[in-house]
Amino acid sequence: MAPKTVLITGCSSGIGLALAVRLARDKQRRFRVIATMRNVGRSGALAAAAGPALGRTLEIKQLDVCDEGSIRACLDSIPGRHIDVLVSNAGVGMVGPLECQSLAAMQSLMDTNFFGLVRMVKEVLPDMKRRRGGHIVVISSIMGLQGIVFNDIYAASKFAVEGFCESLVVQALRFNVAISLVEPGPVTTEFEAKLYEEAERTDYSRTDPETADIFTNLYLRNSKDVFASLGQTPEDIAEHTLRVIEAARPPFRHQTNVAYTPMAALKHADPSGALMTDAFYKLVFKYDAVLRLSLRAIRLLRWKAQKVKEGARLLGFK
Ligand code: NAD
Repeated sequence: MAPKTVLITGCSSGIGLALAVRLARDKQRRFRVIATMRNVGRSGALAAAAGPALGRTLEIKQLDVCDEGSIRACLDSIPGRHIDVLVSNAGVGMVGPLECQSLAAMQSLMDTNFFGLVRMVKEVLPDMKRRRGGHIVVISSIMGLQGIVFNDIYAASKFAVEGFCESLVVQALRFNVAISLVEPGPVTTEFEAKLYEEAERTDYSRTDPETADIFTNLYLRNSKDVFASLGQTPEDIAEHTLRVIEAARPPFRHQTNVAYTPMAALKHADPSGALMTDAFYKLVFKYDAVLRLSLRAIRLLRWKAQKVKEGARLLGFK
């Protein structure tokens, strides 16, 4: 079978980079990867990780999801504009008290996370419909299903992504085009580091001292523990995304971290929202010490499991 052409956005780091490499180095050579990025000057890490796949099963192209001209130029450079799988991955984060964030920064985030996806879909969907085949895979987030304190704007952008895809999926199906949302929990990438850097630069005088204190002393500390205890690697997300891409009947939603499934289920268990708000309020303000302790216990268990795995590998077990 001819290899599938997979175009991925945001491949200079993190999940996009890991996925591009995973697909390009597929042992059965099932994929031809077009790894795109806003600034090709930042392609060094991808080129190094791709190794001999570069120029064979992986090509690097410029594409800024906020620039229609660059999207069109990239697609026009592909023979017949033929894309079998689009992976919309490019995205940016934002955390902190609402009062400390400018409207321009919020609009820019929406432009990347939501309108970036819309621009890509507008450009590839007509060709896929005409060919009666294709797959659009969107790296959403568990925050596309459940908002988290101090992630108001980021969660809103991912809710927009989810609503857009949920509305489009039925029409797309009529044309044999599949849409899938991959919904990771925390993933240890540049994304997390960028958020903390941003938090350090933030001017907290624009909010009241109590909110600033909750954010810096409660939220940020817990968030670091959450990433350290429950965070997945970009390679984990690449494996999950591969499973979605190769599925005979691709799922519409795929959550990558089972630890987050109960959280997303709370709102469906109680349509009034009381169960969900109460649970989160208690978790953040009443039982944060228990939360931290549980996260440390999980971290210890994961560390132990890792050591057992390494030991087994050294002894020659798979
Ligand atoms: P990352 O910062 O390593 O990767 C994001 C990539 O998007 C970067 O390479 C960046 O250059 C690119 N990008 C940003 N604006 C762009 C634009 N206008 N055009 C093209 N590329 C652009 O972070 P990541 O964790 O790999 O994030 C990838 C996706 O995963 C994002 O959509 C993010 O929302 C989502 N996600 C991340 C996490 C997490 O905890 N890291 C969790 C859930 C979902």
